[in-house]
Amino acid sequence: MKLVCLDLEGVLVPEIWIAVAERTGIEELKLTTRDISDYSELMNRRLGVLDREGIRLPEIQDVIRSLSPLEGAMEFVNTLRQETQLVILSDTFSQFASPLMEKLAWPTLFCNELIVEENGRISGFQLRQQDGKKKAVAAFHAMGMHVFAAGDSYNDVTMLQEADKGMFFKAPQSIRDEFPALGGAETHPELLEGIRKFIA
Ligand SMILES: [Mg+2]
Repeated sequence: MKLVCLDLEGVLVPEIWIAVAERTGIEELKLTTRDISDYSELMNRRLGVLDREGIRLPEIQDVIRSLSPLEGAMEFVNTLRQETQLVILSDTFSQFASPLMEKLAWPTLFCNELIVEENGRISGFQLRQQDGKKKAVAAFHAMGMHVFAAGDSYNDVTMLQEADKGMFFKAPQSIRDEFPALGGAETHPELLEGIRKFIA
């Protein structure tokens, strides 16, 4: 049995923190794992900024609700789900993703969870496991599945390498040059073509 695992941000929806930074005007929220490589450290920094600015989860969800999936993503996901099985593997948090998953008609998503107080303050986060995308693909392998994976950034590389076929989607040229064995697609139709070759 064959399965497609996709990254979420940069493949189906925009980068959520970048959008939140732009809509709130807080530049510091634009920091990414390229600036602070330790993800937990980066998240603690972001949560500290939200506290300082008094921004709670409902306000962030309002911002996220105003975003749209990337152009063509909805059609791509619909077609894919008719032709094979899809699981989205993301480092984001379920509370952030849900307003966008609604717009994609609720495909399966495995990600992380925020710890939220009753008043909406985000007090922490719970990572499902370290290197969760790669471990999910390894677990699907243990279930006898053949896996195609696609993503756009460094945090996808181990998932793409673990998969039977891994492909970058709109990844920066520098990352593609670093991992030339992984193919790349620039548009959803091109990615769909790669997936169809894999599931054929
Ligand atoms: Mg991404």
